[in-house]
Amino acid sequence: MDLDYTKDNGWIAEHLGDDYGRFLNSVVPPIFMNSLHVFDDIESYCHRDQLPPDKYFYGRGKNPTVEVIEQKIAAMEHGKAGVAFSSGMAASAASILAICRPGDHIIAARNCYIEGFIQHFFCDRYNMSCTFVGGTDPQEFEDAIQPNTKLICMETPLSLVFSLQDIRGVVAVAKKHGIKTYIDNSYCTPIFQTPLDMGVDLVMHTASKYIGGHSDIIGGLLVTSDEELLKEIRMIRGSFGSIIGPMEGWLMLRGVRTLEPRLERHQETALAVAHYLEKNDRVSVVHYAGLESHPQYELMKSQQTGNCGLMSFEIDTQNDEDVYNFVRNLNVFQIGVSWGGFESLVCTPFMNGTLENAQKQGAKSRMLVRIHCGLEGADNLIEDLDNAFRHM
Ligand SMILES: *Cc1c(COP(=O)(O)O)cnc(C)c1O
Repeated sequence: MDLDYTKDNGWIAEHLGDDYGRFLNSVVPPIFMNSLHVFDDIESYCHRDQLPPDKYFYGRGKNPTVEVIEQKIAAMEHGKAGVAFSSGMAASAASILAICRPGDHIIAARNCYIEGFIQHFFCDRYNMSCTFVGGTDPQEFEDAIQPNTKLICMETPLSLVFSLQDIRGVVAVAKKHGIKTYIDNSYCTPIFQTPLDMGVDLVMHTASKYIGGHSDIIGGLLVTSDEELLKEIRMIRGSFGSIIGPMEGWLMLRGVRTLEPRLERHQETALAVAHYLEKNDRVSVVHYAGLESHPQYELMKSQQTGNCGLMSFEIDTQNDEDVYNFVRNLNVFQIGVSWGGFESLVCTPFMNGTLENAQKQGAKSRMLVRIHCGLEGADNLIEDLDNAFRHM
């Protein structure tokens, strides 16, 4: 199917992939909860590698429900095609497997979600190497290039300290050296950032966060316009059996229908919360790229059209118990590692580690609190935070 790039996200979310004739006029496509489609005849079976796009035969290869969500996200990302996976990690793994071979070198933004995975799996076991860079200056990527560098991995903004990479700048460096670029776009989603338009080769999403949006699925997705890469990625998904299940694919579809209005609400709430935190004298710094005080605010405006509900801040104290008491006194914000759902969450990612580690990740102290602002509304969240600060 050729995607129509003139359509906006509202139309794509609600109507792209509608096929009333095929699905008994139902406004919601059915869940094709089956592993198998039989062939029309023996000739189709014998030529099953050349079946037309609307024919299916085995669910590890493709599924009609899953295809609808692949088309929607691909269209939102302005890419040729999407490939859905059983998790964000499965999608990331397929990206590296598609581009890199043993002996190859990767450059990645330090503290990106797949840092440990690249290091402990691809480097320690499969003879690849990786240089991790702070990433705020494209020059850091250029300086790290080696003759065997095959891939640059971005994730912007990063999801603990919310520093940005300059997507256009990094792409320019990569193109000059014939290196492929990958980006984890889970934070912004295509609603707030479309990296393929800035020259990135491969966009990755976890659908377990905003795309699913209801904290009820694990899923992932890749989008690209590079036909060669697409072929590799589909082959890898088929070989490893990492396609998303039909039920999760369908829930992804339901999540995407409200992605844009949900994100607008997350953003509105997060901005109000960030402004509240910025004025609070128990807070030394707020890490949120939507704030004009963010050191890369201008860069943010040049590559993003918005920011979501996830941010962090540092509490001005030397005493760990103050931070723990603050968290204990929150009622709306529940303690949890994920984000992107309807619910507000809090975690303290650097408290267990050393100050040196926290600073290496870009924080000023260990006293960093990450919050996800859910859909409860700004008043409820600010009241909860204010109460926790007063009883700290
Ligand atoms: C959660 C997360 C992932 C991993 O996604 P899963 O669906 O849990 O495998 C990747 N990137 C970011 C930024 C995430 O927050």
